[in-house]
Parts: sequence; C-alpha cells; structure tokens
Amino acid sequence: MSTFEPVLTRNTRRPDSEKIATYLANGGYQATRMALKMQPDEIIEMVKRSGLRGRGGAGFPAGVKWGFMPKDAPQKIVAVNTDEGEPGTFKDREIVERDPHSVIEGVIIAAYAVGANRAYVYIRGEFFLGVKRWIKAIADAYEHGFLGKDILGSGFNLDMSVHRGAGAYICGEETAMLESLEGKPGNPRLKPPYPAQTGLFGLPTLVHNIETLACIPHIIERGAEWFAGIGTAESKGPKIFSVSGHVNRPGNYELPLGVSLREIIYEHAGGIRNGRALKAVIPGGASTPMLPADQIDVPMAFETLKAIGSELGTGAVIVMDESTCMVQAARRLTKFFAHESCGQCTPCRLGSTRLYEILDRIERGQGKKGDLELLLETVQGIDGTTFCPMGAALVNPARSAIRHFRDEFESHLANKRCPVNGR
Ligand code: SF4
Repeated sequence: MSTFEPVLTRNTRRPDSEKIATYLANGGYQATRMALKMQPDEIIEMVKRSGLRGRGGAGFPAGVKWGFMPKDAPQKIVAVNTDEGEPGTFKDREIVERDPHSVIEGVIIAAYAVGANRAYVYIRGEFFLGVKRWIKAIADAYEHGFLGKDILGSGFNLDMSVHRGAGAYICGEETAMLESLEGKPGNPRLKPPYPAQTGLFGLPTLVHNIETLACIPHIIERGAEWFAGIGTAESKGPKIFSVSGHVNRPGNYELPLGVSLREIIYEHAGGIRNGRALKAVIPGGASTPMLPADQIDVPMAFETLKAIGSELGTGAVIVMDESTCMVQAARRLTKFFAHESCGQCTPCRLGSTRLYEILDRIERGQGKKGDLELLLETVQGIDGTTFCPMGAALVNPARSAIRHFRDEFESHLANKRCPVNGR
C-alpha cells in the first residue's frame, strides 16, 4: 500500500482537534501571518501556479476564479459552501467537525487576496455538530485576533458568520446557495452573470467548497510548487476520498489525486466485504456516471475519469458488489434527484419523475416493450436543456447503468424478474 503523509486530515485524528488551542499548538495560523505580509496579487498567482482545482464537484481552477473577482469593486464577499449533500460524500463534514480552523485560515487568505471584508458560511441544516463547531471556531478566531478589525495588525478587516440551510440538496449549487443566503427559496440562477461578477446581494462573490479552502494554508506555507508536485498533469494536490458501500472499511481516505480507484477500494478500504466480487463503482458521488469493475485501474483525476466517460466529482467512491441489481441502483439514485429537483424548469422537474417511473416499473417486472428506448429518449430530453447542472447530473445513474449493464435491463424486461436477486 502506498503511503501518503496526510495534509488536509493531518489534524483531524488528534484529540480536541477542533479547538483553537490544538490548532495553534500544531502550527495553525502561521499561513495567515505569512499571507498578510504578501501582496494580494502574489497570493493569487501562487494559487494559480499550485494548480488547485475546486473540490466541490466542478473542478474549476481556484486561482483563475480568484482572478475573476473585480479589483475596483468597493464591497466583495467570500461565501463558504458547507452544504455537503451529494449522496456518498462526507469529506467536508469531517473537516468542519474536526478541523474548522484550517478552513477559517483558507477563508482569511482568500478574502485578503481578492479584497473581500465579509465572509458567509452556508452549512447544511442537518450538520448539527458542524454548526456548533463552526460557531465556536469563528468566535475563538475573533477572540484571538484572526477575524474582525485590523487582523494581526495588518490593517485588513474580515467579518464572518454562519447560516444554516434547510436541507435542500440543490442549495449545494453555488447560485442556489446564494439565493438561500439572501433568504429566498434555493432556486439556482441562470449563469452568466457568474457570482464573481454578481453574487450575494448583487456583490462580487468568491464561492468555495470547504476542502478547496482547507488547501490554501498549505499552499502558502509549503509553496505552490510543492502542491503542484502532488497528483497528475491536470489534477494537483491531496484529495479526501469518501468510500462507502460494499467495502470492508468505509471511511474518508486522504490520498494524492491520481491514485487508482483499485488502490482506494482494495488497499485502503479493505476490499469487497463478505468475499464477494466487485460489480460497479460510482467514482465521484451519486451524480457521476458509474463504472464497471473492469475499469477500476483508472487514476482518480479530473482528466482520466473524463476520458472514460465519468467524472471525479466530489471524489466520493460508492462501491457495489455482485449482489447489486443495477436497475434498482439506478432507480434509487434517480428517486433522490427527482425528490431534490427544485422544480424551476420542466425537463428536470417532470423528466426526473418520468425516469424514476420507468425504472420503477422495469424493476418491478412490469416494464413494457420500448421502455429502454424511452428511458434513453427521456435522458436526451433532460441533458443540456436545464437551468442548472442538476439536469446533466440526474441522468447519469440511468444512462451509465444502461451503458454498462444493458443486459440486466433487457433481462428484467424479457423475464419480468431480476436476474441478480430472482425477485
Ligand atoms: Fe431546479 Fe432542476 Fe432546473 Fe436545476 S435543473 S434549476 S434543480 S429544476
């Protein structure tokens, strides 16, 4: 098994890891001291050179995003996305609950670099412990002079507060999150304009995921070249992979980007439980296309997964063994998306429910001739026709299941029963 010195999770297994005293005792807030002595543009250039890409799913280059923030705007905002709701993903939760100060440092440095004096944290409402930890960490950071006026005598001011969401998956989409922060229903906005131009309350807003922000202090302290030296050509740095499903040791594993899916499953997560064979893997959270067992030698990186028709997404690896009915898996995942559609646009609102209904009847042995074609036609009618990326995401379970396991769908239709479980 390859060894990797933890970066983002180096503190999370220490006792009292969430406390500011523990963070300071382990070198915490050194990066903030260093950054506040640098020129903002120097920091932006450093983040660009590091090759850091967003860890929330889209993988957009962070430094480029920082460069989009207008220089001359009098008021700017940083919005911190802790609305982790993608099924299979539980990495941000670990960081927030066990090492919130690493994210606060990332926020301070990002805000200083782009000239923002206000930061809003948006957190999934069900993360009760996370909310508590965020509030306490922010209060302690104020008390120690890392937030508020004239931070560490630098003349830079930053205020930060926490806002709880109400449990809608779509509020993890950046513009829906901004709408929700403004007190409105969390319906995504049409882009452009992008948040860097017109974001929260109409102000330029830098939106980042927790794991992305937690990378920033390490880039400042250890250098852009160090960070860029980890990973692959287009995917740099450490990554937390959340592994769930039919494995012996589910959990979060921090590894370099580019590690193979096979190594994650068989070495770190202990292989498939109950001695069964692997059947399929979702490599990046429920909205990413699933892969069959013979494709797990793929390096876990943005470019390599894209090349084989899937996505890195959030790096949440969902493992399914040979006892899994793929029609059932696609049906369950599609039900989640149909439930979470905000309803703003027709292809997503109606299409997701139609997809679910067709999958449901195929699974129950009541599928009709032509259902497979109808499924694929419905997928085509949704993908690329919706207001936000949810449309393109929600078709992935059904489309990828048919792509790799078409025989299983055809067997359900022909024999009116499941070839895997006999029901
Ligand atoms: Fe809402 Fe779905 Fe349209 Fe996105 S694609 S705006 S979630 S209805």
